[in-house]
Amino acid sequence: MSKYFPVIGLEIHCQLATRTKMFCGCEVEVNTEPNKHVCPVCLGFPGAMPVPNKKAVEYAIRLGLALNCKIDLNAMWTRKNYFYPDLPKGYQITQTGGLPIYDHPICGKGWLDITLSDGTVRRIGITRIHMEEDAGKLIHDMSPTGSHFDANRCGTPLCEIVTEPDIRSPEEAVLTFKKIKQILEYTGVSHANMENGNIRCDGNISIRPSEDAPFGTRAEIKNLNSFTNLEKALTAEMLLQSVTLDAGHEVVQCTKRYDPNADKTTMIRSKEDAPDYKYFPEPDMVRLVTDPAFVEEIRRTLPELPDARRARFIKDYGVTEYDAQVLSDEHNVSEWFDQAAKTCKNPKMLANWVISELLRGVKELEGGFDAIKVQPEHLSRLVNIIEDGTINGKIAKQVFADMFATGKDPDAIVKEKGLVQITDSGAIEKVVRDVVAKNAGQFAEFKGGKVALKGFFVGQVMKNSGGKANPKMVNDILDRLAKE
Ligand SMILES: [Zn+2]
Repeated sequence: MSKYFPVIGLEIHCQLATRTKMFCGCEVEVNTEPNKHVCPVCLGFPGAMPVPNKKAVEYAIRLGLALNCKIDLNAMWTRKNYFYPDLPKGYQITQTGGLPIYDHPICGKGWLDITLSDGTVRRIGITRIHMEEDAGKLIHDMSPTGSHFDANRCGTPLCEIVTEPDIRSPEEAVLTFKKIKQILEYTGVSHANMENGNIRCDGNISIRPSEDAPFGTRAEIKNLNSFTNLEKALTAEMLLQSVTLDAGHEVVQCTKRYDPNADKTTMIRSKEDAPDYKYFPEPDMVRLVTDPAFVEEIRRTLPELPDARRARFIKDYGVTEYDAQVLSDEHNVSEWFDQAAKTCKNPKMLANWVISELLRGVKELEGGFDAIKVQPEHLSRLVNIIEDGTINGKIAKQVFADMFATGKDPDAIVKEKGLVQITDSGAIEKVVRDVVAKNAGQFAEFKGGKVALKGFFVGQVMKNSGGKANPKMVNDILDRLAKE
């Protein structure tokens, strides 16, 4: 097979985290009793007039600013006409339209940076972000009445983020999708939960024989709703297009779906073009005119974004680049760590506890990170009482296990179970001498230079002290007795 170079662009739909729908006051609540939240506007009754949701506009601008986009202060709404059984209106209000005169999405060109596994930073262009409304949901089951229609999702607010075809590998595509998901979480504009369908990704891919050849014909793969599926679908489509070109055939522009079981992409329909949707300016809406002061206010109150947070963790808390990456990867984890680190005497040690103990425990926990019982202040306190010598690292692991299971604070656990570290050198020496007396032969070997036996003695002393002896003091006393 010849070597080809892929050119990839992504289209990511995200549901905005507003309380109400895009153009009416109906509540956004999708997984509830069917058709509970509907009205003449979102059902498209004749004469019903849409009114844009200010919060949704604010969220779209916030997202645009976070992705370095230019905000269009005179944006436009268009009508995209198509028939689908889950779309009672027969059209969708959007901000795209094929013709340049109709094309005034709320957010124009922007960019984001991704960091590849070798540390290279790549800048991916954002073509646009536009707002639109979602369609309803068809439910196909095996009941005698056949298929059902639920309109709760009709009119829920969406943003579609379209990237430039700047992505050069499936790996880069996954990093781009991850970064966008992260930014959605950090800015709070979407819950960005893939299982709940808050975020959906389509991938466009074409291949070419060299890195400077013109772009080839692309296929669009719909609904790649996990990072794994995105990577596998793009890889499978790349292979398919390579085989097609090598056999002397042409790639046909089309819309596809990915079947993860067969690891294959299959065609759904030949690609429709903009004229097929008969776009025109939405006659029920005036232009979306935004006050520059409103945009500046959103810019001023933009929350800290992932890259800035990672840099701050390194600078303020002295954690490694890798730790900062892990700790800032997910918004809820980064918030948790940040809160804990503020009161911690050793944030670097705290980072180790979060990464090795807390996140490992979370893997087994039903409900994931949001279900943890450990309070940030409590883990910070645990590190502080290791630091001040109240307990040793070994006991701390026991205390942590208890904290993780019960949510209790470490002081209460230490007190309840009598786990305070023994730092009375007289008391420790007594335990050491007991162990030495019982193992006189081995102690003679240790004295004679068999250093490896030290671990055995430390272990025995720790065991006989219930794990509570200060390990450093045990070591020092052993060394001293060996020289006697
Ligand atoms: Zn409604």
